[in-house]
Amino acid sequence: MKIEIPKGETIEINTIVLDLNGTLAVKGVVSEQTKQLIHKLKTLNYRIVLISGDIRGNAKIISDELGIELFLGATSLAKAEQMKQFDKETTASIGNARIDIGTFENSKISIATMQSEGIHTGILRYVDILVPTIEDALSLFIDIKSLAGTLRE
Ligand SMILES: [Mg+2]
Repeated sequence: MKIEIPKGETIEINTIVLDLNGTLAVKGVVSEQTKQLIHKLKTLNYRIVLISGDIRGNAKIISDELGIELFLGATSLAKAEQMKQFDKETTASIGNARIDIGTFENSKISIATMQSEGIHTGILRYVDILVPTIEDALSLFIDIKSLAGTLRE
């Protein structure tokens, strides 16, 4: 999907990398609206990828249910290593914690969600956008004008 930033560059995002705990799932649960948004994003031809430290041991169950790819990364460095398989220029990421810094650093656009598991303040300088929920974060890639509006100077 092309994002034309007014008086700025045009970005093309094809891949969205998600963190699991505190991001895609809150306290282990993926909301129904989130499931619908993931489905919608797939119909828009986004490649949706989960890179997780899998602290709850349920990453495979969740990724299978949503029909998205799963890669494991138990540290920020491991997540950065997994990110090498994607084109940074066309990849966006969504996360909430220090472990996601390796993901954020290898993404064109980085978004942090401020949900009930919290965010680590150390990630703030690595993210472009802060949103309250994962539903808000995912919706930005459907309502591209909102994303362009947030990114424009
Ligand atoms: Mg997390």
